Amino acid sequence: MRYLVTDVNGATKDLGVEHGVWSGHVDGEPTDLTRLVAVPGLADAHIHLSSDQSDFVPSDPARIRSRMVAELTGGVFLCLDKGWSDAGVLSVLGDPLEERPALRAAGPIVACPSGYYPGAVDEVAPEDLVERVARHPRAGGWIKLIGDWPRKGVGAPPSFGLEPLTAAVAAAHAAGLRVAIHTMAPETPSIAVRAGVDSIEHGLYLTDDDIRALGARGGAWVPTVRQVERVIRQVGPERTGGRVLAEGLDRVRTLAGLAARSGVSVLAGSDFGIPQGRIGEEAVGLFEYGFGVEVAVTAVTSAAYEYVDEPYGLAEGLPADIVAFDANPLESIETLVSPRFVMRRGRVLVDRREP
Ligand SMILES: [Zn+2]
Repeated sequence: MRYLVTDVNGATKDLGVEHGVWSGHVDGEPTDLTRLVAVPGLADAHIHLSSDQSDFVPSDPARIRSRMVAELTGGVFLCLDKGWSDAGVLSVLGDPLEERPALRAAGPIVACPSGYYPGAVDEVAPEDLVERVARHPRAGGWIKLIGDWPRKGVGAPPSFGLEPLTAAVAAAHAAGLRVAIHTMAPETPSIAVRAGVDSIEHGLYLTDDDIRALGARGGAWVPTVRQVERVIRQVGPERTGGRVLAEGLDRVRTLAGLAARSGVSVLAGSDFGIPQGRIGEEAVGLFEYGFGVEVAVTAVTSAAYEYVDEPYGLAEGLPADIVAFDANPLESIETLVSPRFVMRRGRVLVDRREP
């Protein structure tokens, strides 16, 4: 098999496919995709593969697999799963990469007592956090903490103070785990950044100093703007909680430029705000919230691959993966929502070249 593809920089490449990998052996009539603009894959950096809503039903491997197929056909070849009530998602890590996206995943989410949906996840007192982190499954490479959660009359105070959080991050890193933290309220982002957390999920109240510190050590930020908009609709924009979140989204707007300059890995995540296979909508959302088009496109393409060291590129020796669009996403970002051609490891999953 042989493909002619044009990348986002306008370069045309002539690539063969051997055993699911790009090769330099090009013979035979090529499939000409040069009318489209190709990237080597999209990424979803905040997903819960076990369910498309926060119902915390026990993970069902068949359901996880069908949702992974939805991601693949949408051109998503890398998922960072940010945890569930159980470790079920880890059971698909043995599936071949032809049939699923590359996956990094947290096991059971860890919250403080009464610090999340009641009874949904592992509730751990701050003094027991280090011990719980040390026992967390390591296969998926991540652990996810709930950093703050609304409580009646007191806003959404931090779940864990600086000291237990710093010790927990050290324990996680010693175990080879990266740490992601859910935070939508003020206070927690600064504690999390100081504690050394790797990835800030939502992070509506990151400060300028937090962004600089996070960028200086190559940290990640997954704003999930579509999910936050959904939560605001759910909570009610007039209610206190809704107003805090809307103010947070305004904060995101002011942080966008600084994040790009500071070297933060800004990543696109669907969470429960975008249906599977349509992660391009989050790139459009990031662009609307003031991230430059290059940052928004990178957030849904190369950034997550680079962040977790997953091979990525239209070049010899790399996986024969293509997601191709009608337009150059750098010129027309909406094109990311509807890929015309999707190929995973040499297998064509979607071919909508003819309207
Ligand atoms: Zn989430």
